[in-house]
Amino acid sequence: MIAISHDPDSGTLYWYFTDIIAGSTDGEGECDATLLLDEDGQIIGLELELDGSVSKSDLTFALGHPGVRYDPATYTLSIQLLEAADIDAQPISESAILDFDLVGMIQGAEIQPAKTFGLDTRLERLAPFMVNLDEAEDEGEGEAPIAPPAIPPAAEQAAPAAEPEKSIRSGFVALVGKPNVGKSTLLNAILGEKVAITSPKPQTTRIPMRGIYTRPDAQVIFVDTPGIHDPRTKLGSFMVDQARRAIPDADIICFVVDISEPPSRLDRKIAELMRRTRTPKLLVLNKVDLPTPKGQQNLEAYRALGTWDMELAVSATKQKGLDTLLDELVKRLPEGAQLFPDGQRTDQGSRERASELVREQVLRLTEQEVPHSVAVEVEEWEERGAAIYMRMTVYVEKESQKAILIGAKGAMLKQIGSRARTGIERMLGRAAYLDLWVKTRTNWRDDPSSLRWLGYTDKS
Ligand code: GDP
Ligand code: MG
Repeated sequence: MIAISHDPDSGTLYWYFTDIIAGSTDGEGECDATLLLDEDGQIIGLELELDGSVSKSDLTFALGHPGVRYDPATYTLSIQLLEAADIDAQPISESAILDFDLVGMIQGAEIQPAKTFGLDTRLERLAPFMVNLDEAEDEGEGEAPIAPPAIPPAAEQAAPAAEPEKSIRSGFVALVGKPNVGKSTLLNAILGEKVAITSPKPQTTRIPMRGIYTRPDAQVIFVDTPGIHDPRTKLGSFMVDQARRAIPDADIICFVVDISEPPSRLDRKIAELMRRTRTPKLLVLNKVDLPTPKGQQNLEAYRALGTWDMELAVSATKQKGLDTLLDELVKRLPEGAQLFPDGQRTDQGSRERASELVREQVLRLTEQEVPHSVAVEVEEWEERGAAIYMRMTVYVEKESQKAILIGAKGAMLKQIGSRARTGIERMLGRAAYLDLWVKTRTNWRDDPSSLRWLGYTDKS
């Protein structure tokens, strides 16, 4: 059964399609929402206006409940829990926040109707669905949610610093922000190399990864985060863990926003989460290359979301403002040792990065048909003279997706392969032979052993 909980303090209503286990939420999104009311104005359901980036399998949890329907023509997820003689649909001005798990399935949604709506007086009929999650709430209130662990995990694995006496500035910078603001693009632009995959669809980044920028006087280790959430909410109270993982022992937090749009509810929530940490915070206004008539207004609105050590305007795609950003970051880093050797740009292995480059092309080239039900596994990786031979399997959930991926006479797969190979060769700095296969593994996203096998485990 769908579970609902209400936080009277913030006026938020949480709808859970599944039990949420600590650390299981991997990202979030936003969408328009409409409440369904009966003739007495009591809530009987909710409609969520999703978009084409959500596939039917992402709705597995939601569609498992009676009264939930999805209309792919309008991308509307309709949750009607109770009957009514007459249904009144009331759009909510604030967008709903959706939570996604590690493989992109929607776990739940939270909505916050305007105060004037009188949420507390409209919950009578939802009583059978109500759960109380107070115990989990406000854990560690007042204390910074992002506690720095004593030793950064990456430092343990890192090669010993070459010259112990060489003093430079070094440390961790977390790139935090809602999906699609350009965090991964920014990281790639800074490193001058593709280390994080990007796509116009949110939820592209699945694994938190580090990108390493080294110059003679400094080493900056960037953490590109897959998602972050307000740990004080009931739905998000389980996510303190996630936040800790997403911002591991950061020395500086960059709050990355899209200046071409005003702050949304998710921006505000992320900013609120950051307010409770004492780590220096920079406000990074990305996408300044876009025409933004309301730029000044947006800037003021973002500025008001917190106290910022500095504001910086950048364009990740046009590579504007990056040197200034780097200088400002380096200035604020502690003196320390070089944690990674010169020339190492990421903590991800080449194989993992190569498979991510393939997954990226699948996401880019297949549009909405084969969205997030894709996993790529490296089956073989072998030196062959000056080149590297690699065989990878792209796993999809359905025969129909497999057909799309392969395309007429194999044309689609060929295109995916050749584009991915270009990126892989650039990354490796040498020639690569890429042998791509497509296999169907039914419901891999539902099967814990498949998930483990494909590497989607909680690595923390
Ligand atoms: P992330 O979810 O925050 O990591 O966002 P991505 O890096 O995947 O970028 C999301 C989308 O925004 C992509 O289509 C990018 O090309 C685009 N984007 C990123 N930075 C910029 C920028 O500076 N200017 C413009 N115009 N688009 C950008
Ligand atoms: Mg990203």
